[in-house]
Amino acid sequence: MITIARYFSNSAINYTSRPEQRRLRKFLIDNHEPYCIICKSKAPIYLLECAHLKPRSVSNNKERNDNGIVSWMCRNCHKFYDIGDVSVIDPGIVVVSPEFNSMVYPNILKIDNTFNIRDYEKNKEYYDYHFHKVFKK
Ligand SMILES: [Zn+2]
Repeated sequence: MITIARYFSNSAINYTSRPEQRRLRKFLIDNHEPYCIICKSKAPIYLLECAHLKPRSVSNNKERNDNGIVSWMCRNCHKFYDIGDVSVIDPGIVVVSPEFNSMVYPNILKIDNTFNIRDYEKNKEYYDYHFHKVFKK
């Protein structure tokens, strides 16, 4: 019971402090195929996260409300992206940071570049920001 109350409470806080989040997620559901853009895993919607390509904390109001600032990522890839262990370069190719030790973690970060990220060109400024300011080079 406590867990459920906490879950709803956190959701409410999340949507209150990020008023556009619900709309952006709805946009992805309606317009993007349900797979993670980093590992290309096709997944049920409830396993996919509405991930900011440029961190929301450094985005202005116009950017925060732009549908192009988000895309689908699975939970693991979203963390790798936010922390800067993966990024995306021209023309939509996923790269892994040299700081990420794939010898220690051989199975957890599985990028897939069998095809480029389809919305890369349209949202290049967000990916560029991430590559230059967040990615661990
Ligand atoms: Zn993924």
